[in-house]
Amino acid sequence: MMDIHIIPCLKDNYAYIVENKKTKNACVVDPSESDPIRDYLKKNKLNLKFILNTHHHADHIGGNLELKKEFNSKILGFEKDKERIPGIDIFLTNGQTWNFEGSDVLIEHVPGHTSGHIFYYFKNEESVFTGDTLFSFGCGRLFEGSYSEMVNSLKKIKSLPPQTKIFCGHEYTVNNLKFCIEIDKNNSELKEKYNQIVSSIKKKLYSVPSNLGDEMRLNIFLKFDDLKFKHQLGFQDLNEVDFFRKIRDLKDNF
Ligand code: ZN
Ligand code: FE
Repeated sequence: MMDIHIIPCLKDNYAYIVENKKTKNACVVDPSESDPIRDYLKKNKLNLKFILNTHHHADHIGGNLELKKEFNSKILGFEKDKERIPGIDIFLTNGQTWNFEGSDVLIEHVPGHTSGHIFYYFKNEESVFTGDTLFSFGCGRLFEGSYSEMVNSLKKIKSLPPQTKIFCGHEYTVNNLKFCIEIDKNNSELKEKYNQIVSSIKKKLYSVPSNLGDEMRLNIFLKFDDLKFKHQLGFQDLNEVDFFRKIRDLKDNF
């Protein structure tokens, strides 16, 4: 079992350090910048063996080259993004299982936000790093993919065990919950969640990780197959993709 440490980066990004306390070996997911990652590694005397990228955007790969140089780490990314991920050494494929310190990590291709986006699911840790595909009570904007690709990608995440912890790429949770409440007006659990998260953020705590069970119940971007919910909104005639498109477009203009 490994520890996962949250490292806030830039304005509202999160990088994550996964560490084996015994061996002192670590990997980092989506280092936006090198300084806060280096500080944590040095303070805890960790060896940064690997750098894991979910996608090629600058706020997820910004620390790649400096950290690689300093710690002699290997960089992992999706094979089809090898031209766009700086310093990439290990090309990952859809459905592959990679291993870190004896722990199995499932890689799934989840296009939509970008064409080469992947997630990393650490089985023993019951934790998934979703980058900018699934956020806590939201989802990423579609820059390079179609609505139907994004729906399929979200379905892949939904098929993980409900207790899975969701470690996403940004602290957007308060705003995402505001939008969920705007659409799903009478949901008291959403309002409770909102109050809880607002008070955590005020105390300078993080809203991550979320968990998949909560997301399935409350995140409206995951409810494209919830007939009762669609009916409640008057969208019962929309198929899964059109429903998702409707919600995503409303959020883009929120
Ligand atoms: Zn992004
Ligand atoms: Fe991002």
